[in-house]
Amino acid sequence: MAGRLKGKVAVVTAAGQGIGRAIAEAFVAEGATVHASDIARDKLDGLKRAKKAKLDVMSTRAVERYAEKVGPVDILVNVAGFVHHGTVLDCSEKDWDFSFDLNVKSMHRMIGAFLPGMLARAEENGSSGSIVNLSSGASSLKGAPNRYAYGATKAAVIGLTKAVAVDFIRQGIRCNAICPGTVRSPSWEARVDELGKSVGGTDKALEMFVSRQPMGRVGEPTEIAALAVYLAADESAFTTGTAIPVDGGWTI
Ligand code: NAD
Repeated sequence: MAGRLKGKVAVVTAAGQGIGRAIAEAFVAEGATVHASDIARDKLDGLKRAKKAKLDVMSTRAVERYAEKVGPVDILVNVAGFVHHGTVLDCSEKDWDFSFDLNVKSMHRMIGAFLPGMLARAEENGSSGSIVNLSSGASSLKGAPNRYAYGATKAAVIGLTKAVAVDFIRQGIRCNAICPGTVRSPSWEARVDELGKSVGGTDKALEMFVSRQPMGRVGEPTEIAALAVYLAADESAFTTGTAIPVDGGWTI
């Protein structure tokens, strides 16, 4: 089925690689007008048929300017996020603040800047707006080793998602979170390489990552994008305030 997002205008952050890239590509394939952004503008170069822009979601001014430039949208997907590796004892106040700024406050900034336009567009068109936030299985769903700050930020994303969902439920805005398990992406590959340094090579590290997966494999970004398309499309019109795992059974 193609054209599920025909006529819709979408914004996707961190669309340069990994999950954000797969979501932007899937939205384009489904007929949406896609505004794809990333802090690294060059990573967007290969993305076809999208409007591309450099955007640092940690800058309130840049986010406000971007929202003014893009105008009203139907779909907002907040993807940008960062994994801090370690326990509470490895997490300085600076690490904590950075993680919350990039993983949570960025969503506050983006939603604050885009929601007024989404509300106006939903009212004008008699349609609904959809916000999709990237959380993680490592959140309030599950404690994961060495994901102290990360898990706290991704639990906050679920709280933020439910708060927005309940506040705007009668005004045609839906807000849902996706909670991926381990998904192949450039930053995940870098984490495998890093682990490889202490366990005797990348192949060994890869084997360790994969053996911990209930399905015996990691996920692909396209498998997360498939849910993002569903949550963005009108077919999920009765779904809001959810935190949906796509994790190969990791949080069972
Ligand atoms: P990634 O980490 O490989 O790429 C992140 C992208 O974000 C890069 O293109 C980078 O340039 C961009 N970025 C970094 N700082 C930014 C900023 N300040 N403003 C705008 N863009 C910025 O991507 P990924 O692994 O697919 O992760 C995407 C999201 O999915 C993150 O929120 C992550 O926490 C979440 N997630 C990923 C996994 C996984 O296993 N990959 C699992 C669960 C959740």
